[in-house]
Amino acid sequence: MPNRNPNLTRLKAGYLFPEIARRRREFAASHPQGERVISLGVGNTTEALLPHICAGLEAGARALGCAETYSGYMDEGLPELRRRISKVYYGGRFDIDEIFISDGSKCDIGRLQLLFGADTRVCVQDPSYPVYVDGSVLQGVGCKEGAKDGASGYGGITYLPCTAANGYFPDLSAIGRGNLVYFCSPNNPTGAAVTKEQLAALVGRVRETDSFLVYDAAYSDYLRDSALPKTVFEAAGAEYCAIEVNSFSKSAGFTGVRLGWTAVPKTVKYTDGGSLNSDWARIMATIFNGASNIAQAGGLAALDAEGLREIRSLTDFYLGNAALIRSALQKLGVPCMGGFNSPYIWADFSPEKSWDVFNRILEKCRIVTTPGAGFGPAGEGFVRFSAFGHRADVEEACLRLERL
Ligand code: PLP
Repeated sequence: MPNRNPNLTRLKAGYLFPEIARRRREFAASHPQGERVISLGVGNTTEALLPHICAGLEAGARALGCAETYSGYMDEGLPELRRRISKVYYGGRFDIDEIFISDGSKCDIGRLQLLFGADTRVCVQDPSYPVYVDGSVLQGVGCKEGAKDGASGYGGITYLPCTAANGYFPDLSAIGRGNLVYFCSPNNPTGAAVTKEQLAALVGRVRETDSFLVYDAAYSDYLRDSALPKTVFEAAGAEYCAIEVNSFSKSAGFTGVRLGWTAVPKTVKYTDGGSLNSDWARIMATIFNGASNIAQAGGLAALDAEGLREIRSLTDFYLGNAALIRSALQKLGVPCMGGFNSPYIWADFSPEKSWDVFNRILEKCRIVTTPGAGFGPAGEGFVRFSAFGHRADVEEACLRLERL
């Protein structure tokens, strides 16, 4: 038997979401009577697919059952879908070979580190979506420096604190030369969305340090404030230093369908002038065999006029939930971030510890949240409320919160 990959042993115990699921199961088993538990924890969509998008998926499945329209592997993705993504999300600025269709943005984030190798220093917003850190650790980032203690995170990874004191936008001077920077807006978990000025400063710092930016725009369809940038490519110069991951999961409800993309401009080059775009094509061709044809047919439907109306109505629905949760917390005097332009509400219960708040809300209200400390050291004292839920459950949860 070969030895275990040592990077696995460097991961912090238990990925956040399975740990939450385990505690929820344990709680339900020890409290079989009484109210059911409502989940406002994991960012999993709950509402049925809307009819036009669903019909696109059905048509995709039917096409596979007919000799004339059957298709097999589709490599980088359906050309028409890539064209439509470029048009809808990037004003048509990208050629289809700059848009790579995938089985979701988490999967792309996991593969991305292969572009840079283990010696790269990684910067993440703190708190942040756990995959940026865990995916980097799995690829060996910081393995030479060794793991640091739990409070200060991992070697090889610089945490950029995002707190109320800095308006949830980090001090960019901590980005060093040749770093790989992950940045998510609207942010999971804080709900903060960057302004045009902040985005320009971020891209400016990335360029001045010869760094590289992975911009996660998985929640861009939740932006309602038209002054806020929907893509990193609204910032001048981003086409030389950034790629963007995005997804149909939270916009069209495709969390279970699985469809996303990465925009990789041909103008992004390594320091030696090599092309990231052709390396990404090589990586995808080597370890990925393309997104499901059925999912892609659904994606095509999602990006025509009727599909975009459905995306708008679905995201409006979840934003409606977010507004209810936010106002329930505010009535209790809990300071909150997010809930506008984002399906997440980042609630400050400090100085109480995140897991203690999680337990208290579970026991008193039978509501599952996500402990902020699971997203990074700066998340301690916070819990994240997710607006992904049925309306009746969210209304019920808001009433139960009054018990806190
Ligand atoms: N990026 C962020 C910030 C997320 O919160 C999520 C899912 O919760 C993803 C990416 C993953 O999305 P997908 O379902 O496309 O893998």
